[in-house]
Amino acid sequence: MAQYTKKILKIVKQRDPDQNEFYQAVEEVVKTLEPVFEKNPYYAKVMERIIEPERLLQFRVPWVDDNGMKHINRGFRVQFNSAIGPYKGGLRFHPTVNLSIIKFLGYEQIFKNALTTLPMGGGKGGSDFDPKGKSNNEVMRFCKSFMTELYRHIGPNRDVPAGDIGVGGREIGYMYGMYKKITAQFEGVLTGKGRNWGGSLIRPEATGYGLVYFLKNMLLANNKQLTGQRVLISGAGNVAQYCVEKLLMEGAIPLTMSDSQGTIYVEQGIDKELLKEIFELKNVKRGRLSELKGRKGVEYLKGRKPWHIPADIALPCATQNEIRVHNAELLIKNGIFAIAEGANMPTNPEAQALYLKNGILYGPAKAANAGGVAVSGLEMSQNSQRFNWTRKQVDKKLKVIMKNIFIACDKAAKEYGMPGNYMAGANIAGFLKVADSYKDQGM
Ligand code: GLU
Repeated sequence: MAQYTKKILKIVKQRDPDQNEFYQAVEEVVKTLEPVFEKNPYYAKVMERIIEPERLLQFRVPWVDDNGMKHINRGFRVQFNSAIGPYKGGLRFHPTVNLSIIKFLGYEQIFKNALTTLPMGGGKGGSDFDPKGKSNNEVMRFCKSFMTELYRHIGPNRDVPAGDIGVGGREIGYMYGMYKKITAQFEGVLTGKGRNWGGSLIRPEATGYGLVYFLKNMLLANNKQLTGQRVLISGAGNVAQYCVEKLLMEGAIPLTMSDSQGTIYVEQGIDKELLKEIFELKNVKRGRLSELKGRKGVEYLKGRKPWHIPADIALPCATQNEIRVHNAELLIKNGIFAIAEGANMPTNPEAQALYLKNGILYGPAKAANAGGVAVSGLEMSQNSQRFNWTRKQVDKKLKVIMKNIFIACDKAAKEYGMPGNYMAGANIAGFLKVADSYKDQGM
């Protein structure tokens, strides 16, 4: 292993020996940055600084269920880096949430936000609370309790949370209501707000749409087209839903969606009607894909992921480390030529290496899924102006941002002698923006 990478990873391991996901996220970035560090060792020093969060908050979240039982969950917010703007990043509510997960997400967010071209620093937060199977009132009580601690650490020019897994419009609404009650301020302190009270059009669609825009740019640059391609999608949440919607608009054929219990496979392609049902099932009924079992043309694969199915393109939109070596081998064997990531860190390092070795066009998460946080940035701009842009205006800006992100990745990869390696390009372009800001502000 190259000298700078080795030194930085040693620091991470020594400080936090059990934070595997955080270590993995740092490893991916620093490995690709070695040529940057070699050219100018100042940058390695900056990275040693960046791997330590500026501030880390952990707090107790007490709440009462519908039967009067008292529960305690753990709340987190990592304010990772503010070199280029106020901390910005989502909140994840999921039983697997711990410090390592929050730190990996926060670390990724620093470079992702830098790539969006908007002035946003990196942050992330969440809780090990599981909204699945809870009543609306239980979710509301939890969210309000969560905000009674978080409110004192955030603000429109300080730290602006949003959604992530388990946190959608409903949760943002409950948290925003509490923030407003405590502070008596109506301000753009959370993004992903409802459109009647300061939210941006296209924010719900942004990650999924942005992913497809990034993919289109990547295909175009490699003389390929999206129309007619057969696509595997994992996940059935917000990102996957709008990704499928945009794929249909582009004339591609989405074959699969999945949740934690299984995959639906539609050989003829998921159509608009089925997608509408999935929207209803997931967002209103909050049900499982298994409920679509027996529906004409839909095959339900219990306990399986979509990666064994022959197709052209794969878009993992579920969660971290959902593609490991054996999945990657299947994807490659079955003819996949492009992969772009809607989820954060869905591919583990060994599988990433396989993509690159086999010449797969690979759009890494921090570039390909940056559309969500980019439109969050546009929501902040609209809030500052006390103004709402139209759907068309926001979508147009999102398209331009995703194109520029692709160009930045492509250019940085070429500059550092790794043409076509968009993973390295994304890491280098995102990092240099942050690192140079340190230089300007006096490290
Ligand atoms: N959770 C999303 C992400 O991973 C969006 C964050 C935001 O909008 O602040 O980028």
